[in-house]
This record gives sequence, C-alpha cells and structure tokens, in this order.
Amino acid sequence: MSVSYCDDLFTFNRFLTREVNIGNIPLGGANPIRIQSMTNTDTLDTEATVLQSIRMIEAGSEYVRITAQGIKEANNLAEIKNLLLQRGYITPLIADIHFNPRAAEVAAAIVEKVRINPGNYVDRNTGKFHFTDLEYSDELKRIADRLFPLIAICKQHHTAIRIGTNHGSLSERILSRYGDTPKGMVESAMEFITICRGFDFNDIVLSMKSSNIKVMVQSTRLLVARMKEEGMNYPIHLGVTEAGDGEDGRIKSAGGIGALLQDGIGDTIRVSLTEDPELELPVARKIVDFTKSNSSNLNLSTEPYPIDPFNYNKRNSISINNIGGNNPVQIYLSEDLNKETTSKNYLIVTKSSLRGGTPKQSNDSNQKIDCFTSLAMTKIASQSELNSINQNDIIVLDFKDEGIKKERLFFSILINKKLNNPVIVKKTYSFNNIEELQIKAAIDFSSLLVDGLCDGICIENSFFDGDQLNEIMLAILQATGVRITKTEYISCPSCGRTQFKIQDGLKDIRRRTSHLKGLKIAVMGCIVNGPGEMADAHYGYIGAGNGKINLYKGKEVIEKNIDETLAVDALINLIKQNGDWIEP
Ligand code: SF4
Repeated sequence: MSVSYCDDLFTFNRFLTREVNIGNIPLGGANPIRIQSMTNTDTLDTEATVLQSIRMIEAGSEYVRITAQGIKEANNLAEIKNLLLQRGYITPLIADIHFNPRAAEVAAAIVEKVRINPGNYVDRNTGKFHFTDLEYSDELKRIADRLFPLIAICKQHHTAIRIGTNHGSLSERILSRYGDTPKGMVESAMEFITICRGFDFNDIVLSMKSSNIKVMVQSTRLLVARMKEEGMNYPIHLGVTEAGDGEDGRIKSAGGIGALLQDGIGDTIRVSLTEDPELELPVARKIVDFTKSNSSNLNLSTEPYPIDPFNYNKRNSISINNIGGNNPVQIYLSEDLNKETTSKNYLIVTKSSLRGGTPKQSNDSNQKIDCFTSLAMTKIASQSELNSINQNDIIVLDFKDEGIKKERLFFSILINKKLNNPVIVKKTYSFNNIEELQIKAAIDFSSLLVDGLCDGICIENSFFDGDQLNEIMLAILQATGVRITKTEYISCPSCGRTQFKIQDGLKDIRRRTSHLKGLKIAVMGCIVNGPGEMADAHYGYIGAGNGKINLYKGKEVIEKNIDETLAVDALINLIKQNGDWIEP
C-alpha cells in the first residue's frame, strides 16, 4: 500500500474528512470528535427508551442510536423522537438496521442517520462460497436496486447513512473473494460507497469494527488508504465491538479507538461495554481528551515509517536476559526495572537526554545516550555514533508524555539503522483514579503494541500497588493480542434485541471461568448477530429469546433454549465435556 499513508501516520496529521450533517450536530471536517452510544431497551417500549436516551444525552451522548429490527420498531422511532422533543431533547437519533431494508426505509424518514451493515443489508447466508464474475456482478446490481429506495428517502429527508462493516458478518460473496480479512471488510464497504456515489449520495459515514483490536486498526487504516487512493474522505466512526465490561472492556476500547485517534483517524467514537450505555460516555470522553493530549505540534520530517500499518509484524529484536526476540512481551514495575538497570547493561533514553540534559546513568552510557539525542533530534547520525551502541544493551524508552510521534520516530531510527536491541517502553502517570489510568495507559501503549514495537512495558504510578499495575499491563497486552494470560470474554453491549439479563450472565460466567487462561468465551445478546460476531470464540452463550440461551462450541450450536437460570451451569458442563475445564 502507498508510502504516503505511512508518512501521514508518522507525521500524525489528522485525516481531514468532509463534513456530513447529522441533524443539528455536524460530523467530520473541522468538527470535534463526537461521542455517542446506543440504547439497549426494547425499542417498542417508548418510555423506557426515552428515559435511557435522556440519561445518555445527559452523560454526553451527541447522537443516540436505537435498534430497529423490524418495521414496527422503525415506526416507533417517531414516537420516541416526538417524546424526546416534547421533553426538550433535540439530539439526533440513529437507527441501527440489520437484515431489514424495509425497516431502514421507514426509519430514514424519521431519524437523522441510519446505520446499515453491508454484510447483511441485502445478502443472506445460503452456503454458497463460489461466485463466477457474472454472478458477482449480478449480485452487485441486485444490491444497487435494493439500496436505491433507501438512498432516495435519505436524499429527500437529508438523512445520513453509516455503512457499518463488522468483522464476522461479511457476506458470502465478499468472503468468497477476500476471506474474513481487513481487505474483505474494506471491499464490502467500498461496494456500498460506489453504489451511493452512483446515485450522487455523499452523506456517508464509514466504520470497520471488530472485537479484535488488530483487525479493527488494520482495516480502518486500510479503509483510509483506500479512500485516499480514490480521492474520497468520508467521516469515520470508530469502535471496538463486543469489548466486554469492567477493566477489560475499558482497556480494549481505549486501546483500539485510541490507536486510531493517534493515527489522526476518527470523527466519532462509540465505546461498547456490556454495562448500562450511560456508563460508556465518560469512557468515550476520556479517550478523546487523553488522545488529544498526546498530540504534538512537532513537525518531524523523517525517513519513511518502516512499519507495515496493515499487517502485524513484531519488530525484529534479539533476546537478552529473557527479553526481546521470541520472548513474550514482558511487564515491569518501575522499582524492579530500576533495580535491573543498575546491575545490567541498560541504555536509558529519557526526555531529558533528548533535550541534552544529564542522563541518570552513572556508567559509560552517556555517549550512547547522546547518540540517540542526535538521532532523534537531527536524524543524521553518523555510522560512528551508531557503532557506539553496545549490541547487548537493553533500551529503556522513558519519554514520559512526549507523544506517539516521537516514539514512532525513535523506533523508525532503530529499525532503519538495523539496531535490534530489545526495547522496554516505560510510562509514568500521576492519576489517582484507576479508570483514568487504565484508559490513558491503554491508549499510549496500544499504538506501539499493534505495530509490534515493544519487547517490554512498564507503568509507574504511586497511587496503585504492584498487583493493580501488573493487572493493567497484562490486560493491555491481552487486549492488543500480543500476550494472552487469562480468559478472554467477547461480549456485546446488548441492544433492543436482547431478551435476557446479559450483564448478570457475563458477571456470573466471568466469576466462574476467569481461571481458564487462553479460552475465549462469547456472551452475546441475540442469535441474529451474535453467532456471526462472536469471532473465533471457543464457546458461545447467546440470547435466543425471552430468558433463553443457546450454547455454542465454536460456530456449532450445541444446546438450544436453555432457561437463563440454568445456562451458566450448562456452559460449564459443556466446557468440561470438551476437556477445556481445569479446576480453579
Ligand atoms: S449481538 Fe448484541 S448488540 Fe448486536 S444486535 Fe445482537 S443483541 Fe444487539
């Protein structure tokens, strides 16, 4: 893919999108990054949906998304909108549509934006996995015919459309040609964009979502690269799907969304937690604010960014003292790291050394640090300076809060000069609020981790103990998929389709299975989207109707319609029967 995109990543220029009007809150262009959430009430329960929408708006939601699974629900959006207006709330509403073009058409005349999923707007699963070129183009014509009525209504009512692609719900046609890949996700959106543009419709917003941060980051970067090639600049909505709850959900969301915001990508964000939606908004606000504080005005021209932004590759480093090479990414507490650095051969690169201050090291590494000062600030290091770096040095990058730009510059120099020393990235934070620490640390480290750049990470904070800091660091490594140390939960935020107590179910499952390291368990609100979007989970616990649960082993449904009061026991039994259980 184009080098120009890599250059833009490196200079941290915001991808400037076109402005799209969503009611009274425009999106994209020079507008601030908008935050939003989605109701999880029954859409036919007007009062409950209005009350929850108000709680979300009061918590900062600039748009409110509501599921409309059928025509009845789509029609009821008018009641919800009217009641909100009567109570003084003019926040734009968004209808969330899957599988039902007619519901989209009804909703488009009522709300300000309609989200459709290109994987299931027209296409249905039929078991067909081979398409001739003629069949493929016939399918595209069929989609255009089906999409045109929606576009006509949107044009008439000035309603925007989000083409919201999800990893896990791509059409068979796309899968047949591209597989379940970031490229397939991008092409799925591009087909719909091409149709919209063919009808001269440009009020488009795009998203590439996945519960896997690497896939979400790579597919969105690829989408931007593809748009640049085509001369397009539609606004981008960011979100990590099925992020779960609690610390893991916050870290996963902040990691994925924060990595892209630091690339300069993203016009609106939605944090998806398996919690009440109003709790998502303070998290979203912090992600936006903390990412802004990472921005730097430095204009560092440089050699090309030597990272492939579309594929994960760990930086090539050598193994020294069990760090680097093929060792798992290590975690350090600052006191342990300080002890190690006084006794072994460490090269500490600090903010002060970058500015030419006196390095803390007492041994002969001053010269080496000066070398990095020169490298980082002038980018014209001579070969003799490079030779002064001992090949057995472990580098500790202690930039404090210098921002992603300088960190990328530092790693670029190392890679371009073929210096394979392991690197530990250390960050010091003064937060005394654990949620703020989780979010900021996840943003800071995820950009580097999804690009395969760290061999070790270290968080320094005086308010929380070592166990808490270790837990945060391991959660960041797990969320970015670079080191797995515990059970992973893929859990949707729920919506109007959910008909069981998903938050209680997830808590109970987590309580009883959190010792099963490496196992992935999906907890999903409905069988319409749940099975497709549970990604590569080993087991699935999926809502199947009023208080009923279906259990899955991989993609195969094993038990149906279990009462939710019995379903967690049944899940444990299923895990045991398959030999994946260990006693806690
Ligand atoms: S998987 Fe969850 S969020 Fe998605 S449609 Fe089903 S219930 Fe709603």
